[in-house]
Amino acid sequence: MNRYKIAIIKGDGIGPEIVDEAIKVLDAVSAKENFELNYEEYLMGGCAYDVKGVPLPAETVEGCKNSDAILFGAIGGEKWDNLERHLRPESGLLKLRSELGVFANLRPTNVFDELVDASTIKPEVLKGVDLFVVRELTGGIYFGQPREKGIDRAYNTMVYTKEEIRRIAVVAFESAMKRRKSVCSVDKANVLEVSQLWRETVEEVALDYPEVTLSHMYVDNAAMQLVRNPKQFDVILTGNIFGDILSDEASMISGSIGLLPSASVGGKVGLFEPIHGSAPDIAGQGISNPIATVMSAAMMLRFALNENNAAERIEKAVQMVLKDGYRTKDLADYGAKEVCSTSEIGSIIADYVAKI
Ligand code: NAD
Repeated sequence: MNRYKIAIIKGDGIGPEIVDEAIKVLDAVSAKENFELNYEEYLMGGCAYDVKGVPLPAETVEGCKNSDAILFGAIGGEKWDNLERHLRPESGLLKLRSELGVFANLRPTNVFDELVDASTIKPEVLKGVDLFVVRELTGGIYFGQPREKGIDRAYNTMVYTKEEIRRIAVVAFESAMKRRKSVCSVDKANVLEVSQLWRETVEEVALDYPEVTLSHMYVDNAAMQLVRNPKQFDVILTGNIFGDILSDEASMISGSIGLLPSASVGGKVGLFEPIHGSAPDIAGQGISNPIATVMSAAMMLRFALNENNAAERIEKAVQMVLKDGYRTKDLADYGAKEVCSTSEIGSIIADYVAKI
């Protein structure tokens, strides 16, 4: 039997309640698919600051590095907003990503048929959308040197090395091979030299994947196409700043922030987390939607543990639960037959996982 060590970081706000439900579902799927998950819990974020005086204690980094994967809820809250920057919860997360060396951010956006009305986009444009953004996470203009803020002039530098482009392109093509075998690389090659190198390098990598169709799109057009006709996309490959913007845009077409998972991979250990934050406005009320975290757990099974059947089982269970009309409060207006608490919907998903 395969055994895996999973680092659990619940974090702040709704973090603990949504992660607890994901664990419930993971326990159900591991029993069914015959593998073992051993969890070890670590602190990060505001809760870590309160107990240890820092947002990312050394034992958390150590524990994460010695795990097979990390499942993370969310961090942050007003209570810690006025701390010095390096003590704030989000610096804990940035530091953890950099310690892990995760350079690829993966964000699937699926639209559940039952929830097409939850989006601001017309149902006929939306139905059947299934896209996957692969964003470079550790290079580009957010990290490029030199950078400076003067009194009358400020600048940043967009830099990518060929190797940085190559390795993220490989992640995109590998992802496409497991999907509909199409990659759209997004850049600004008509204006930026760094994008010209991006394009050349992506084309070189494409030679190793003859089954995958590669297209290129300028980022301004991609922003437009994502709302005009999102169905045209399978895998979108892009750099750090363009991906930051496009992945948020893509996530919003699905209509609910409580449904979408993400993964940060490419280092020794991958980090799996919902795209939303710690939602302090609803924390502790038992009304948060745990599905994004449950779907992040499914991504963890697929991308970190290679337990593909288990991942599919969870995804199918979530789809059936939504189809059968179970909703948390955030989705109560969209086809709900029964409005459930966080813990009720977690249990229902776990039951479906066990019985399908
Ligand atoms: P948020 O994503 O936490 O919340 C935005 C809105 O969506 C809120 O109204 C919230 O109630 C709702 N929402 C979010 N997740 C939900 C869920 N699972 N179910 C139902 N409703 C949900 O964003 P915010 O309010 O801008 O930020 C709150 C805190 O989270 C801040 O401290 C911010 O820094 C932090 N944050 C953390 C992460 C992270 O941990 N990765 C990401 C973004 C924001």
